[in-house]
Amino acid sequence: MDVRENRLFLGGVAAEALAREFGTPLYVYEEEVIRRQCRLLRESFAAARPDLHYAVKANHNPALLRIMLEEGMLIDAVSPFEVRLCLAVGFAPERILATGNNTSPEELRWYLAQGVPVNVGSLVELEHFGALNPGGRVAVRINPDIGAGHHNHVITGGPDSKFGIYHTERERIGEVLARHKLRLVGIHAHIGTGMLESRHMLAAMEIILATAAGFSELEFIDFGSGFGIPYGPDDVPLPLAELGAAMCARFAAFCTSYGRPLRMKLEPGRILVAQSGSLLMRVTNIQATPAHTFVGTDSGFNHLIRPVLYGAHHRVVNASAVAGEMQPVVVAGNICESGDVFTQGPDGLEERPLSKPELGHLLALRDTGAYGMALASHYNLRPKPAEVLVNAGQARLIRHRETYEDLVRGFVENVAQSV
Ligand SMILES: *Cc1c(COP(=O)(O)O)cnc(C)c1O
Repeated sequence: MDVRENRLFLGGVAAEALAREFGTPLYVYEEEVIRRQCRLLRESFAAARPDLHYAVKANHNPALLRIMLEEGMLIDAVSPFEVRLCLAVGFAPERILATGNNTSPEELRWYLAQGVPVNVGSLVELEHFGALNPGGRVAVRINPDIGAGHHNHVITGGPDSKFGIYHTERERIGEVLARHKLRLVGIHAHIGTGMLESRHMLAAMEIILATAAGFSELEFIDFGSGFGIPYGPDDVPLPLAELGAAMCARFAAFCTSYGRPLRMKLEPGRILVAQSGSLLMRVTNIQATPAHTFVGTDSGFNHLIRPVLYGAHHRVVNASAVAGEMQPVVVAGNICESGDVFTQGPDGLEERPLSKPELGHLLALRDTGAYGMALASHYNLRPKPAEVLVNAGQARLIRHRETYEDLVRGFVENVAQSV
């Protein structure tokens, strides 16, 4: 953390200066952190030289997508508009992999029309795809019967997961492929997100490889993602170099037994962008109950829902006075719901030490670059924050703060000119 004269700096710019220039609440992304994480992942898996498909859903700001393009990333998209945005930024269609779930035939047809490779997630989708594109190339997502993640809501493998074709359905996959003369060029699985241990990914890898061995025309195997980052003080970072080396070695051995080289694909989202992001907010209120001191701010779970949704931990820093006398506080937002608290843990509201907060101070919620702005809403009819990219002492606005007009544009009744 870059602290100068007890104030937080982001990408070489004082957080206070950013708040003055662009207002609050404000999402700030440090470009250098994103590039560092891209390199780190690439180096950890260097032995297999995998295709790295950035998972757009983590953060779809086009300025970040452009960094991914420059870093040689490919794209993992999960909706037609994500695909459209990536095409607009300059990704070639063949560098995108569209992995839907419960995808409609219309969406499949649209992906095909764009020339974007498709990864289907069910036998129904495979049937639809075959009917639309007989003789075509396709990948399938399997459910390897193993799931993992930082919270039940983010586990995407195992019997309680809606995602993918169960790995035991190999024969039925074969039947649909044969019926439509489809070529199965890829096997995919993605078992969850926010993992800080290697063992689930390595266990899932075995099931994925066993499934892959049953298909003879493969060109790639896509192991999805799930790479976690340490959010809280007790989180031990994922041993990425070790996991990368283990997966690469296992993959090389599999390719030998398969009889020819295949491409490894990975779909990192969180690990590339989470740590680049800080959500800046102003302290607008401080008040106590017999139990807690509440520090109120001008943001809320409409801007960062992870604490409310998952009990997720985000470090909170007083950007106006980083070090100082620490006071245990609960940091809350301005949304009209009692659950609108940023300092949460697995059991709900938590107190965190914050250096003596005062009215008007600027707080920074750290590690908010992934699944932050992407999950923001207009609840309470509040606009979404502006977004800024910082690097080497320079700041660039990459998304305007929304206006009243932006929020009411979709209504049939014209209410834009009320005041
Ligand atoms: C969300 C998602 C990812 C990215 O997961 P992270 O844990 O953020 O890296 C990758 N692949 C698919 C199919 C996803 O749905």
